[in-house]
This record gives sequence, structure tokens and C-alpha cells, in this order.
Amino acid sequence: ASGYTLMRDPRHNKGLAFTERERDAHYLRGLLPPIVLSQELQEKRIMHMLRQYKVPLQRYMAMMDLQERNERLFYKLLIDNVEELLPVVYTPTVGEACQKYGSIFRRPQGLYISLKEKGKILEVLKNWPERSVQVIVVTDGERILGLGDLGCQGMGIPVGKLSLYTALGGVRPSACLPITIDVGTNNEKLLNDEFYIGLRQRRATGQEYAELLHEFMSAVKQNYGEKVLIQFEDFANHNAFELLARYSSSHLVFNDDIQGTASVVLAGLLAALKLLGGTLADHRFLFLGAGEAGTGIAELIALEMSKQTGNPIEENRKKIWLVDSKGLIVDSRKHSLQHFKKPWAHEHEPVSKLVDAVKAIKPTVLIGTSGVGKQFTREVVEAMASINEKPLIMALSNPTSQAECTAEEAYTWSEGRAIFASGSPFDPFEYDGKVFVPGQANNAYIFPGFGLGVIMSGAIRVHDDMLLTASEALAAQVTEEHFKKGLIYPPFSDIRKISANIAAKVAAKAYELGLASHLPQPEHLVKYAESCMYSPVYRSYR
Ligand code: NAP
Ligand code: MN
Repeated sequence: ASGYTLMRDPRHNKGLAFTERERDAHYLRGLLPPIVLSQELQEKRIMHMLRQYKVPLQRYMAMMDLQERNERLFYKLLIDNVEELLPVVYTPTVGEACQKYGSIFRRPQGLYISLKEKGKILEVLKNWPERSVQVIVVTDGERILGLGDLGCQGMGIPVGKLSLYTALGGVRPSACLPITIDVGTNNEKLLNDEFYIGLRQRRATGQEYAELLHEFMSAVKQNYGEKVLIQFEDFANHNAFELLARYSSSHLVFNDDIQGTASVVLAGLLAALKLLGGTLADHRFLFLGAGEAGTGIAELIALEMSKQTGNPIEENRKKIWLVDSKGLIVDSRKHSLQHFKKPWAHEHEPVSKLVDAVKAIKPTVLIGTSGVGKQFTREVVEAMASINEKPLIMALSNPTSQAECTAEEAYTWSEGRAIFASGSPFDPFEYDGKVFVPGQANNAYIFPGFGLGVIMSGAIRVHDDMLLTASEALAAQVTEEHFKKGLIYPPFSDIRKISANIAAKVAAKAYELGLASHLPQPEHLVKYAESCMYSPVYRSYR
């Protein structure tokens, strides 16, 4: 290839880091200014530039431009500055990016499959230039973070998630495929937005929807084989549960909002037990929000209790209560509940307000998964603090604007006694002379390592025991030093190491369950995981 082509290809471009020899050998002389920079200096320069931008969306766009221009440098930046850049390429900024995706759109970064492509999805997949895809993240844009229906503009989510698969889990960028399925949108604002990039029609539902998704799932398996991991992301719950149930016995599928969230939150709970005392089964849980996240977490907690105590899962479910938009889920509502809520309809009189549910149920752990901000009011937090010496409060709704309460509110209203974690990041907060570092129950702790474990073992199905194992592996990474700061998650700066550990445990479980197809099993799974991980350091071209 000519030097010019090399330079324009983001996978090969090194910018000013092309060496003198490379410039000679690849016809690059004169196409670049004379100076040669190291990758480290390039990184320093770009970080410096990013920090000048005061508007988060500008940082997002600068990062996307870098990914388009120089892929290795993009990943080097993301890996080396993960705590600073995660909120840029992912929640909360990715939420704003999706809302404005039509206006900031530059180049497509994934595949768009719309109703127009019905009957031709296999051909569409073949248009994608990469043959050996290992992970697909797919959305239909109906429930983007806690921001609702963003239609085709949900593409920012698969793109962002897959960049984390690479940066945090070490999956090769060329093995990652972001896909948005466009069946229309019910978002009036977007339908009337002249810059909207999706189909200008209301959402297809029922059979029309099911047929398009079925064609998609079949085409993926036909084109990429059985071992491609398909991660469903930000589907509305009425489709999410059904798709997972329908395809989990025929495809390698994973729903991050249901299963990934559950695994991350369970890890935080297992770690928190060291601060709270007791076993999981000694605690009582109350959720605000009984959708994908809420019921997914609840079910995995009940499963882990069964694993620890040997009690039947129905028994354990009774320790877990959920509130939805109509109040506490109780047996008298059973006939009108969606099926995924039914296991949680325990015997109790109706309670409509959250604060009354807290007073009635007396939970030790309060978890927000409603997508609605500011629901953990002063009254609610104070009620938790009057019941518990150390109330555990998780405000998981994303992005930051939707958080049930802020870190500051949780610490202040509980007089410094709360153990707090949130979905979107909050800064450390000083209360009464002590600095509290809020934990971030970010799915990015689990799915990259989980995916790597699945890929490296050649697993053909996802099993719940693999999720439990991932939680335990993550919880085991929280040390005494972290607990002292009130943290129930390890710092993100260690994420590559954490992911390798999770991957090794998940792979081991896949082998144990007979679900792994890469045989024989490697001897040292952690080392093997590390050796599989993508490195963003420039290669030299001879
Ligand atoms: P979902 O399936 O739509 O569920 C939302 C649930 O909240 C529903 O049960 C809904 O009630 C309930 N709800 C809505 N408004 C409410 C109100 N005012 N009071 C009480 N309950 C209310 O959504 P999801 O996938 O579970 O996601 C929910 C939120 O969690 C999102 O903001 C998402 O970003 C966040 N999340 C965070 C993480 C993380 O931090 N790691 C991971 C995944 C998701 P009805 O059923 O009655 O409508
Ligand atoms: Mn999600």
C-alpha cells in the first residue's frame, strides 16, 4: 500500500510516530512534517488537548475522531487514563452524544439494520469488512440508559460498549461489531428533528418486530458461526426478557442490562458484606424499579443465596422486595403483573410510596433501578439510616441526571453512615472531616472480562453460574485498603488485571460446565487471558 493509504487507515496510522525507516520504506516522506514523536508524547499531547475542552460532548467528539484516525492511540489513551475517559466514551457523556447523534454524526462506526433491510440481513452483514467477529453489541434504541427511546441514535451505546470490550477486556477491535436495529422510534422529538438519522416512522411491534429480529439472529449465526457473543443492549424490557429467553438455548447471548448489571451489583454486595457483616441471606433488599436491572439483580441475589445456603430459590426471593411505578409489588397485584415481576409478588398489603415501603419492609439494602432521578429523598435516606447502622444505598439509574440521589445526599442525610455506590460516577465527598469515595457499580467491571472469558474458552452458551463466578471474582479484588475508604468496588485503574481474573474464572466455569469448545483447557487461565489481550502499542512496519 502507498504511504498515503497507510496513513489514512485508522488501523495502521501512527501519525507523527512513523519512524524514519518506515517513512522511507512506505513512501511517507514529505507527507508528514519532519519530526518523529513517540506514542507516549502523542498521548500526552492529546490528553492535554482534551482537558482544555470544558464541554463534555466536545471531549466525546474528539475521542471519536481519534478512534477514526488512529485506533491504537485511541486505545492507548483509554487504557492509560481509564478513570478520566470512561465517563467520556461511556456514561454519562455517551447519553448526551446519543441524544444529539444526528447533529454530530460524521462517519458510521457500526452496522445499521433497518426495516428496509428485511430479507437482506445476511447481505448487510457481509458488507461489514471484518470476517472474524467475536462480539456483537446490538441495540434497538428503545431504552437508551435512562433516557428513553432514542431510536437509531442509540448507536452510540454499542460503539461505546465495544470500545470498552477492547480497552478493558482486551478483545481485538477488529473482532468487535456494533449494530443498531432500526424499527422506527416513538420519540416525537426525533421524528420531528430534521437531523434525525433513523427511519421516520413509529416503532414496528409484534410479528413484524419478531420477524426482523429472528432474521437478524439467524443471519448472525450463519455468517459468524455459533461462537460469536451477541450482547443485547438497551432494549425496552418487554422485548429484552423475551429475546433473552427465546435465543438463550440456540445462541451465545448475553443481556448486559439484565445479567451484566446483576453480576456487577452482586459483586458490590458480596464485597459490602465485609463492611456490613452477616451473609447475603441475612439481609433484606428493597428495589425501586422492577424492570430489567431490578429483577435481574434480584434474581441473581436469590441464586447466590441458594448457592451459599442450599435453600430453594423461592425461599430466598422472599427476602427481596421491589417497588415499581404502581408501588410495592404484592400478591394482590399478581393478576396484572408482567411475567418477570410475578416471582416477586409477596404477601403484603399494598404500599404506594417508597418511603412507606422502606418503613414497612425495613430493608438493609436499598437499590435504585427506576431510571427516574431524585427518588431517594431526604425522607427515604433518613428512614434507611434510622433502621440501619450502615445503610447500603445504591443509586444505579444512569446517566447522572437520573441518579436516585447523589453521593453527597446519601452521605449527608445518613450522617456519614451510608455505604454508597452509583451507576454514574460521583466525586469523592468530605463529610465531618472524613473523605468518602463513592463506588461506581459500573457494568464495565464485568462485561469486558466476562466476554473475554467466554471467547477464550470458546463457550457456546452463557450459564448463570458463569455470572455468579464473575461476581465472586470481582468482589475478591476489593482489598482492605479500598474498604477503608468505603469502597465496595476496586479502582478502575486496575481494570485490565481485574478483567483477566474475571475472564479466567468465567472460562474455568465454562470448562467445568462442559460448555467450552477450545480444547484442551489452557493450564494457567489468568496468564492465558493476559496473553490473549489486545495491546495498543504501535507495531513497527518493515
Ligand atoms: P426498565 O426495564 O424500563 O425498568 C424501569 C423500572 O422502573 C420499571 O419497573 C418501572 O415501573 C420503574 N419505575 C419507573 N418510574 C418509576 C417511579 N417513578 N417510581 C417507581 N418505579 C418506577 O429499565 P432498566 O433496564 O431496569 O433500567 C433502569 C435504570 O437503571 C436506567 O436508568 C439504567 O440506566 C439503569 N441501569 C444502571 C446500571 C448500572 O448502574 N450498572 C445497569 C443497568 C441499568 P413499571 O414497571 O411500573 O413501568
Ligand atoms: Mn445498558
